[in-house]
Amino acid sequence: MVSRADRPLAPATRLVGGGRPPRVPGASVSPELSLTSTFVAGADLNYARVGNPTWSAFETTLAGLEGDDATLALAFASGMGAISAALSLLPHGGRVVAPRHFYNGTSAQLDAWHDSGRAHLTRVDLADLEALDAALDAGCDLVWVESPSNPMLETCDVAEVTRRAHAAGTIVVEDNTFNTPLGRRPLDDGVDVVVHSVTKYLAGHSDVLLGAAVTNDAGLAARLLTARTLGGAIPGPHETWLALRGMRTLHLRWERACANAATLVERLHDHPSVAQVRYPGSGAMIALEVVGGADAARAVEDLVEVWLPATSLGGVESMLERRRRHALEPSSVPENLLRLSVGVEDVEDLWTDLDDALRRAHAASQG
Ligand SMILES: *Cc1c(COP(=O)(O)O)cnc(C)c1O
Repeated sequence: MVSRADRPLAPATRLVGGGRPPRVPGASVSPELSLTSTFVAGADLNYARVGNPTWSAFETTLAGLEGDDATLALAFASGMGAISAALSLLPHGGRVVAPRHFYNGTSAQLDAWHDSGRAHLTRVDLADLEALDAALDAGCDLVWVESPSNPMLETCDVAEVTRRAHAAGTIVVEDNTFNTPLGRRPLDDGVDVVVHSVTKYLAGHSDVLLGAAVTNDAGLAARLLTARTLGGAIPGPHETWLALRGMRTLHLRWERACANAATLVERLHDHPSVAQVRYPGSGAMIALEVVGGADAARAVEDLVEVWLPATSLGGVESMLERRRRHALEPSSVPENLLRLSVGVEDVEDLWTDLDDALRRAHAASQG
């Protein structure tokens, strides 16, 4: 018989039970929403820019999902807050190797740093290991990974990229927003720091912005904590509480969203209005190139009634958008590319709405 002590808790159980107050008679079952700026002196935690019990409830839960009980997670005010803290690990003028495509906010930040001399950015197709080696040979302080990438859904072999980066003496950071820890656990592949836009799947209800950074390395965790404490852009306790409440059902939402996405992808492959389907084989994000160019893609945004035409992703509600409507999106992203975030609605309702919008947009683009 397997005793409870030998068996680590499964993700679903960690999601439901993580971060709850100690079980003593009369204690609340739900974590405390700690609204205080300071703490009575004499304990480790003495000021709320450094830590907060509500952050800790969220952080220990996420850490256990991405790693184990020794893993460290830190909450940030947004995904970009966590990403900025991870990028602060770079020395001044440090060299970053990043994928061809990745989240346009991170990409724009690195472009700005490149232009100002604060960092040097090299973009490579991380699926091309020879190109990676050449970039590493030229000197590198940090490899940025996003697999699948936003919005092109390009993937790479993260374990192999990490092995080569470490052999070159370089740390690896992965933005794991699109996978969630249920889809992939980058720390298991040797990745040094995982960042999340918690805003997306983890919180899951399109009602809160939050970010997180996760690592097994105590030295890196200390530097990230310093970046948060001195950077000062800390999360609100209420936002953090909402994110943890949203996470309670992550496993249910993720399972349904992935199943819905797989069903839609199967049908979209044969669709007369779809020129190309990008889907990495798992997860709940899809990118479509629609027949009829940018105008047809815009028409789909206007015609859907169940899907929401909106930016962002990972919520219970299905959303789609033409990514090139954002000025930050690079011109290598096709004009007719629609990014779909598949939610947890009834899949037949999602299909009917999307199929109808695609057909009508296609007809209009020909007429
Ligand atoms: C949305 C997103 C971010 C930015 O997160 P915010 O919470 O909006 O700051 C970073 N990376 C990816 C992959 C995202 O989708």
